[in-house]
Amino acid sequence: MKQIFIASLIIVSFNTSAQKPIFKALAFYSTNVERDHVQFANDIVPFYQQLAKEKNFVFDTTTKWSKLNDDTLKNYQLVVWVNEFAQNEEQRRAFEKFINNGGAWLGFHVSAYNDKDTKWPWFVDFLGGGVFYNNNWPPLAAKLIVDDNKHPVTKGLPKKYTAPISEWYIWKPSPRLNKDVKVLATLDPVNYPFGKKDLIREGDCPVIWTNTKYKMLYLNMGHGDQVVSNPMQNRMFANAILWVGMKK
Ligand code: ZN
Repeated sequence: MKQIFIASLIIVSFNTSAQKPIFKALAFYSTNVERDHVQFANDIVPFYQQLAKEKNFVFDTTTKWSKLNDDTLKNYQLVVWVNEFAQNEEQRRAFEKFINNGGAWLGFHVSAYNDKDTKWPWFVDFLGGGVFYNNNWPPLAAKLIVDDNKHPVTKGLPKKYTAPISEWYIWKPSPRLNKDVKVLATLDPVNYPFGKKDLIREGDCPVIWTNTKYKMLYLNMGHGDQVVSNPMQNRMFANAILWVGMKK
């Protein structure tokens, strides 16, 4: 019995060392924010935890934004902002340092929110220039145009598809105007006027993009309990974290 026990221990330690994680991600989320944003976290966090097991990456999670500090971040290659953003100057500086030292970021929905009161020009530049302008209300399914379905993130998506119900944000100026930004998907103008109470009436509305100056990817999706319900779009969510987490 003892020998069997020892043998199994050896096997376990062998497997652990043989399977070094492909990258380590730390996901920040909040449970005291808008209910629909918490619902999204409740769906995407287990989705990525399962994927992490299958694809052999680390997906740690925390609701403590104070962990956005040098000491914690040095253990990770990727930071995910699920449903909120840096809370104070100290956390902003730690995040900038992490990114400027080659760290990666995956942000959903409200994580990119910024307006005239945010006063974080570095972040606006990081996003590619977009400042929050407007949103649709109530949350709706949206017809999307996939600008590039050969990219590792959006490969496998058709040129057009209908994304599950979410709230959608439009940014001004459009990040597409930045030469360093590569837009991967856009709200199809056929949706306009989009919304009932609050409307996106017109304008270029990228919903998935990367600022190629950084290891970063932004996804507009992230509102409510329907977002992680479409297997095709879920594959894109999987591709998204793998691409940005392993980006050289
Ligand atoms: Zn929202």
